[in-house]
Amino acid sequence: MSEILDLLLEIGIVGTEVSQGQQIRADCPFHDDRHPSFYVSSGTGAWYCHAGCGGGSIVELIQRLKSEKRLPQQRQVRTVPGREIARTAMSALQEWQQRGIDREMLSRWGMRWDSVVGATRIPFLGVGGESVSEAWRLPAGRVPKYLYPKGFRKSDYLYPWDRLVSASDSIVLVEGPTDAVWLWEAGLPAAAVLGAFVSSTQISLLRSLGQRILTLCFDNDLAGRVATWESTRRLREEGFILFRVRLPKNYKDIQQVPLAQVGDVMSRRELAVQRGFVHPQHRRWLLEDLRGEKGKIWRYDDAGQGRHRASGRNGEGA
Ligand SMILES: [Zn+2]
Repeated sequence: MSEILDLLLEIGIVGTEVSQGQQIRADCPFHDDRHPSFYVSSGTGAWYCHAGCGGGSIVELIQRLKSEKRLPQQRQVRTVPGREIARTAMSALQEWQQRGIDREMLSRWGMRWDSVVGATRIPFLGVGGESVSEAWRLPAGRVPKYLYPKGFRKSDYLYPWDRLVSASDSIVLVEGPTDAVWLWEAGLPAAAVLGAFVSSTQISLLRSLGQRILTLCFDNDLAGRVATWESTRRLREEGFILFRVRLPKNYKDIQQVPLAQVGDVMSRRELAVQRGFVHPQHRRWLLEDLRGEKGKIWRYDDAGQGRHRASGRNGEGA
């Protein structure tokens, strides 16, 4: 089953492969379609409706479905930390423990309950262990999952930089800090890109570590899969060798995988070969979209990345 077919299924479009698997044919989501007239390229994700609904890239498809409220409903969660849910250090500790992160682990990573914010504070350190910034992990069920200080640019940091500088093994890229913590605890060096988009600055940081082999282990959801695809293309263009890990279906992210099984899951990585995700003429548009400057399909691009503009894919990396 092709990844595009998987992706379509996830956004509520059921299709079949035609033209020796080159294309996927489905009922058009934009009109009352009795004879499937909606075609999607299984290589690029580009789509077209032969009944006149238009066409575009896969990201444009998702955005249009979203703007027309045709995406499968997602759960609504409160977005702003407030006083309506009383949280205490004790309930936060219990929540961490349920997720397999015990007191010792929290203290190894300097993670502490911050009663002012009502979240667990995660320190971001520099090469010498000095404080560079910080993030707060909100209790379960809240979005965004992480809060960052005003002015902090997520796209300029890789977590945990203080440990990454001495990593001797190939690095796993993950979305959130707790995913990274989990992998380090399992003995695997990991870097959180603090979102799902790898920025030019982060690519420069990765290059400065001297690692040419990277493994992508983004979240097991639609945004994570689109990000894996796009990051694969970008990082390969920058000369990295990319592997990726498909998480077992029942886990949403690597942090949900029991610590004892992490090594096993990660060992089933595969070389990421990608046939090109978006037509070249849509690429600039997509990159802007992934940075959160236009589109809103990302969950994480609420703060820093929207302000970060690189002058092109080689911008700061050159
Ligand atoms: Zn149509």
